[in-house]
Amino acid sequence: MSSAAWMERATKVIPGGVNSPVRAYGAVGGVAPFIRKGEGAYLFDEDHHRYIDYVGSWGPMILGHNHPDVREAVMRAAQEGLSFGAPTEREVLLAEFITKLMPNIEMIRFVSSGTEAAMSALRLARGFTGRNKIVKFEGCYHGHVDALLVSAGSGLLTFNAPSSPGIPSAVTAETLVLPYNNLEAVKEAFAQYGEDIACIIVEPVAGNMNCVPPVPGFLEGLRAVCDAHQSLLIFDEVMTGFRVHPHSAQGLYDIKPDLTLLAKIIGGGMPVGAFGGKKEIMMHLSPAGKVYQAGTLSGNPLGMAAGLATLTLTQTPHFYDSIFKATTMLMDGLTELAAAHGLPFFTHSVGAMFGFYFYEGPQITNLSEVKLADETLFKQFFHGLLEEGVYLAPSAFEAGFVSKAHDTEIIATTLEAAERVMKKMNGKAA
Ligand code: PMP
Repeated sequence: MSSAAWMERATKVIPGGVNSPVRAYGAVGGVAPFIRKGEGAYLFDEDHHRYIDYVGSWGPMILGHNHPDVREAVMRAAQEGLSFGAPTEREVLLAEFITKLMPNIEMIRFVSSGTEAAMSALRLARGFTGRNKIVKFEGCYHGHVDALLVSAGSGLLTFNAPSSPGIPSAVTAETLVLPYNNLEAVKEAFAQYGEDIACIIVEPVAGNMNCVPPVPGFLEGLRAVCDAHQSLLIFDEVMTGFRVHPHSAQGLYDIKPDLTLLAKIIGGGMPVGAFGGKKEIMMHLSPAGKVYQAGTLSGNPLGMAAGLATLTLTQTPHFYDSIFKATTMLMDGLTELAAAHGLPFFTHSVGAMFGFYFYEGPQITNLSEVKLADETLFKQFFHGLLEEGVYLAPSAFEAGFVSKAHDTEIIATTLEAAERVMKKMNGKAA
């Protein structure tokens, strides 16, 4: 049955036909391919197409799809049972592994998604500090947590209205939304409300408004402001974790957050999330402390097995060399091609995470600047590449991901496809 036929069936029983809105093709038009299987750098759909995949399940598939080590680890775990709701060995092993690689995480608690990690870390930050207000940044996404789902784009120092029906305004009334990479705005907010601010939550490299790295001094400044006001600094490394550096963004930029969120990659494609940080804070969590948090499937044996197998492979010598090089090759290649075809183009990449914009720059540092990029050109490029067998995220506001399976040959094939597409776009523009 074709993707279109499956989508028709899906929309009758699943709202919008998808179980997470980003999967729908609302922003680019057309029907999302139904994926049948993945292998290495490739996805295969129900229509018998093969795609080079730059979504990687939105980040976690850093080894490529269906890696034999991960598959075998999951199958071994499955032979022993799927869930016990009781302590198991693999939870301790993965906790030890992560705390060793990310020393700012002295203790960790596993959950089942990034949303759950963000929701729980917020409660802990508020419970620990006894304060209610939180600071987040425009264009940063931390899952669909009520308090964090507030409209981006409002001015400085405004408490934001919920961006979805169903969220009482009282819940977002304590959420301050500030422009990313703007330390002055943060200082102003703290000058006014510092005593009441429990935490700043930030994506250390923003990956939910395309890919926007921190400007020099931004993350350092957040750390200093939090220290000055006894507020907690929370790094949301759900995307950047083990992707931008062997020790995540906090290793790359050498910043010590109080709490860190992880997900996706630490489950190697299984539903796993986690939050962790300083022992003195984490010990406030139930049952050690009074801040309640729980989950029947938390620390699930299959998820822990997939995570352990995935992270173990990322820590082999030179693991990141080729994957970072492939990312640079892709971005440099696209930049050259765009210049040759007279298209405005700008890119950012950090480690194995990238973003590109049909915009000539000179800079992209926040959501307002991201919005200057030409979405019509993006849609043309997206559909052109899809037809050529290259699968990008169906939105101009998403980061892209490269895996270990993307070798130089695959990147070269992608660039050849991009050249054909850009040639046609150039023709249309002229
Ligand atoms: N934080 C960040 C930075 C994310 O990118 C995402 C998901 N894209 C989340 C949190 C939420 O994770 P999940 O979808 O697993 O709930």
